[in-house]
This record gives sequence, structure tokens and C-alpha cells, in this order.
Amino acid sequence: MPESDTKMGGLITDLPQADVNILIVDDDATVRYLLNEFMENMGYVSYKAASGEEALEALKVHRVDVVITDIMMPGMDGLKLTELIRLNYDIEVIVMTGYSGDYSYEEVINKGASDFVFKPVRFEELLLRLRRVLKERFLKEELRKLAISDDLTKLYNARHFYKQLLAEIDRYRRYRHPLSLLLLDIDHFKEYNDSYGHLEGNDVLARMGQVIRSCLRRMDSAYRYGGEEFTVILPETAGTEARNVAMRISSEVAGEAFYPKSVREKVSVTISVGVAEYCSGEEMEAFIRRADMAMFKSKQEGRNRINFLTPDDPSPL
Ligand code: GH3
Ligand code: MG
Ligand code: MG
Repeated sequence: MPESDTKMGGLITDLPQADVNILIVDDDATVRYLLNEFMENMGYVSYKAASGEEALEALKVHRVDVVITDIMMPGMDGLKLTELIRLNYDIEVIVMTGYSGDYSYEEVINKGASDFVFKPVRFEELLLRLRRVLKERFLKEELRKLAISDDLTKLYNARHFYKQLLAEIDRYRRYRHPLSLLLLDIDHFKEYNDSYGHLEGNDVLARMGQVIRSCLRRMDSAYRYGGEEFTVILPETAGTEARNVAMRISSEVAGEAFYPKSVREKVSVTISVGVAEYCSGEEMEAFIRRADMAMFKSKQEGRNRINFLTPDDPSPL
């Protein structure tokens, strides 16, 4: 492709493109080849498919962000392909359509396409549309992350906790792998706020987020459950191992040094933890309550400790 075509008169910015994967679908080999080469020249990773059926096969093996598909193809047409992709994947679709009027804009968008371009495709226009679709996709993803995370601690928020715990309980019902839950609460945190101020308290909460995360494995997840309360979901983890995780977090937290501005000395904080392992048939609320009761027992016994409760244990209340 000539130099002037690929540079696009300064349209190319520094946005990262190498990790954007495109799939080109067209039964016309020339279009397929040219578009594929253009996308690669623009810095995208590009795959090709000659039909809707082939495209669906390609999606099983490649991670794809955007599918750019022809609409008129033998076998499955671009509309049907768009519909199936939108139904089964989180992938954007740009449809290429002829001027023939066989398919309307409404039809294409109603099937879930993010945009469409007329054939013969002007590469410059396609690139603009692709970049807009990618930007929207990025913003959507950012919004999604924002909606499930806690700004101060950078952990997930309580809403996401309930959703994830339900999903894990559901997984337990299918596979019967152990599942444990930790509930952690900072000791005498009101006192900390009263002594050093709310902002210093916020620093502690932020650091708690870091410390908890540093103690977890990839499949574990941590949440800010309430003001100064945290939860940790430990899939594939039985009670004994969950208690070890709790011990690790507790000792890491106790080892953290804080230097509130109003005082000269080093200050440390402790946490009280409740541990529970999921029991077959248990409702989510009962499972959380058990972890909460275990935490409450740790408070009752003097704080800075860990308790594990089974459904057979007497309630500390
Ligand atoms: P305990 O050992 O029994 O847990 O005592 P505590 O003082 O930690 O517990 P309590 O529930 O009485 O108080 C919790 C405190 O946490 C009170 C509240 O001001 C503080 N807190 C909750 N959310 C935030 C926050 O976002 N920032 C700050 N700085 N403090 C918070
Ligand atoms: Mg509390
Ligand atoms: Mg507390």
C-alpha cells in the first residue's frame, strides 16, 4: 500500500493499537486481503474470514475486539452474523453494506452493529469509524469498572460483592469445590479518626486495600463491604487455608506503619477477622452472617484476632 494511504494525513495518534484485534469478514478475497493489510499497517492485529460460518469459528480461537463484516455473503449473511456475535460475545461489529438498499441502516443497527460503512469502502472513513467505536468501547469498559469498584481502596464495592458471592455459590452447587469467605473489620477505627482526623483514616483505608490485595491469589477477590469493613471471597479454598490467608492479612496489616501528620510517632492498626466456609444448601445471607458472627466473636474476645465458625457452633450473640 502506498505510503500516503497508510499515513492518512495525520489521523494516526498515539493511542495503543497493538492490543486491538480485528476480524475482517468478506467473501470477496480482494476486499479481505486489502482490508486486512490496511488494518495491519495501521497497527492493529487483524484476522480474516471468508464467511459468517468461518468468522464464528475464528471467534472461538482468537480474542477479537471488533468484527468488520460484509453484509451480502453466501450462507450466513452479515446481519445474522452480527446478531449471533452480539448474542454470544462482547464484541463490536461494523457492517459494510452496498448502496443497493437491500439492507437499511435501522436493520443493521437493530441487530446490534455499532456502525456501518458503504461499499466500496473508503479506508479513511472506515478508520475514523473504527476509532470512534473503539473509543466508545473503551469508555464503556471504564464505566463498567467504575460501577463495580471503590474509589478509595481500589477494591471492588459491596454491590459487586453480592453479585460475585452469588456466582461463587452457584459454582459451588455445580462443582462442590470448597468456598470460603473472610470478613475483616478495622479495630477501634473511630478512635483513629477521632485522634488523627478523617483524612488520615482514609489513608489507612487506602493502604488496607493494597495490603489485602497483596495477600491474595489471582482467583481471590477483595471488596470494601462497608465503611471500614472488608470481605474476601476465596474460591477453591477450605476453612483451614482460609484461616491461613486471614492470618497473613492480619499480620501484614499489623506490620504496616502509619505516620499521621498531627503526631510524631509511628501508629499501627489491627483488624478482627471472621472466617466461614460455605456449607451445602446455605443461603448467601446466612453464609455472610456466619462470617459476620465469627468477626463479632473476634471483637468480643478482645480484637486483633481471627475466628472461624461452622453452622454447628453456638452464635456468639
Ligand atoms: P471496633 O473495634 O468495634 O470495630 O470499633 P470501631 O471504632 O472500628 O467501629 P465503629 O463501627 O464504632 O466505627 C467505625 C468507624 O469507621 C466510624 C467511622 O467514622 C469510620 N469510617 C467509616 N467509613 C469511613 C471512611 O470512609 N473514612 C474514614 N476516615 N473513616 C470511616
Ligand atoms: Mg465496623
Ligand atoms: Mg471497626
